[in-house]
Amino acid sequence: MALALVLNSGSSSIKFQLVNPENSAIDEPYVSGLVEQIGEPNGRIVLKVEGEKYTLETPITDHSEGLNLAFDLMDQHNCGPSQLEITAVGHRVVHGGILFSAPELITDEIVEMIRDLIPLAPLHNPANVDGIDVARKILPDVPHVAVFDTGFFHSLPPAAALYAINKDVAAEHGIRRYGFHGTSHEFVSKRVVEILEKPTEDINTITFHLGNGASMAAVQGGRAVDTSMGMTPLAGLVMGTRSGDLDPGIVFHLSRTAGMSIDEIDNLLNKKSGVKGLSGVNDFRELREMIDNNDQDAWSAYNIYIHQLRRYLGSYMVALGRVDTIVFTAGVGENAQFVREDALAGLEMYGIEIDPERNALPNDGPRLISTDASKVKVFVIPTNEELAIARYAVKFA
Ligand code: ADP
Repeated sequence: MALALVLNSGSSSIKFQLVNPENSAIDEPYVSGLVEQIGEPNGRIVLKVEGEKYTLETPITDHSEGLNLAFDLMDQHNCGPSQLEITAVGHRVVHGGILFSAPELITDEIVEMIRDLIPLAPLHNPANVDGIDVARKILPDVPHVAVFDTGFFHSLPPAAALYAINKDVAAEHGIRRYGFHGTSHEFVSKRVVEILEKPTEDINTITFHLGNGASMAAVQGGRAVDTSMGMTPLAGLVMGTRSGDLDPGIVFHLSRTAGMSIDEIDNLLNKKSGVKGLSGVNDFRELREMIDNNDQDAWSAYNIYIHQLRRYLGSYMVALGRVDTIVFTAGVGENAQFVREDALAGLEMYGIEIDPERNALPNDGPRLISTDASKVKVFVIPTNEELAIARYAVKFA
């Protein structure tokens, strides 16, 4: 079995999966795991192999040690690089700036280019580069491939990509909409075209990626023409803990009137806002329970969340002119039928009609949830970013 190793390196963690690129989106990866608390005294590696879970608790100095220990642990359980045929390594890279529109075979030069993008993603790209450096040393003989979260949105037309701020300042500092979750929006928008068995050029799709982070995209004949995240993943929809769109004047007000520092505001808007900031919880299962108990804060959070989804939906319907399909994906989009129902309620006159029974089906694969009469076909399609990255990586093998 040829396998791809998929790595998602964060500042203090590394998520890894060994994926058979022939899998379907809902198949479990052969091996998955997490190295966490890198640089902290209480480091931990959790490994899952075909349903069995193994844990190693030990201080982990850096990414290099973390990945080496993870590989040792995999070897101990007969699923490591020395026993298995790993044909390629796919690296999730958050920011590709305007340099990268598609996955790239990693060379020293590509690593330097990703490093040059650090000012645009100071929290993410340094960790991505660390992960790449370490993995290339441990597995020097297989292709390493960078897959960018922003890549799919490289095609945004200028009117959707540019902000109306001074153009010299924007150019100097790389200020524009890059969009994120591109691998997922691309994966599900391609999948829906396959399901419909139509030429890609003929299908216009609106995708809802609703996880803890959330974004939407308008895809016209396979090309992304708009998306809700912006220069950073803070923009757009209301998310688990992020505010989404705000009047930028709020930042000045919090600084001048509330006396908050830039870091405090950053933390407030990224970690303590969104559904959690409004209701106290960010998991939609808990939110639903609170709503059922008529908790007013939960209701308020939910209504604001849905309102924002519909605001973007309306604008993408107009941007596309004709909508053929709508796709829901990620944790909330795949599982929370009430969110799908409320996001699309009352839009029959636009040709959008959900079938309640289809909408209530369990999440065990791609499924149509609109009525047969609905002009716009609405689908739930499970996303799998790791599988998408694995498939890109093996293309270079
Ligand atoms: P991310 O990758 O952004 O962390 P996911 O796509 O895994 O997020 O989505 C996680 C979120 O999905 C959870 O926070 C929760 O709100 C939601 N979720 C997961 N399972 C369910 C479920 N059965 N019903 C409702 N919401 C769910």
